[in-house]
Amino acid sequence: MRMRNKPWAEDYLLEHRDIVSIDLSQKDNITSWFEKVQPIHIEVGSGMGRFITEMAKANPAINYIGIERDKNVMIRIVEKAIEQDIKNLRLLTVDAEKLTEIFNPGEIDRIYLNFSDPWPKTRHAKRRLTHANFLSVYKTILKDDGEIHFKTDNQGLFEFSIESMSQFGMKLKNINLNLHDNEPADNIKTEYEEKFSAKGFRINRLEASFK
Ligand code: SAM
Repeated sequence: MRMRNKPWAEDYLLEHRDIVSIDLSQKDNITSWFEKVQPIHIEVGSGMGRFITEMAKANPAINYIGIERDKNVMIRIVEKAIEQDIKNLRLLTVDAEKLTEIFNPGEIDRIYLNFSDPWPKTRHAKRRLTHANFLSVYKTILKDDGEIHFKTDNQGLFEFSIESMSQFGMKLKNINLNLHDNEPADNIKTEYEEKFSAKGFRINRLEASFK
């Protein structure tokens, strides 16, 4: 997701450090960042934030953390969180590769990956959020029975991810090659999902676990 550079982005995020952190300072403080101690679900690459804000409103008994490395994009999620006064949502502007530096081992109950950048060139494969290097990060921070829920319109990324997760020894379930054909009532469409589905792309989805 590309957004025009906003020179004031960092200052804006720093003004709202009660709900967004732009560094690793929340390390060891994740639980106390929220009003209630309850399971934590994170989304990696939240973009404009529709999914994570709607999920947080629909599931008040879960704490949500949206992770988005682009500060210019993160502003849009912070605005939504403030306008809608969402108590069980916090935000982190960090790269996913840093997640083991922020979360304790086994601290996270579920990870959502929605329409991750496909990085189609082979030489960029390590940047894909389902590359083994990232799976290893997720394995560390997820609880033993934790799950990854992944959606993408991109066929190449979906095939790569199935292969990458299988080679990593993960279990895959509920693989769906056309999510919007008989769409589940509780499916929350991300901004990318709406855009690409309207263009006629089929949406792929799977759930994966390490145990
Ligand atoms: N999930 C949103 C949706 O479905 O509308 C946004 C999808 S957009 C294609 C991917 C987003 O992931 C971008 O905003 C990008 O900045 C973010 N992203 C990509 N790699 C990341 C990483 N390593 N760590 C954190 N965010 C990342």
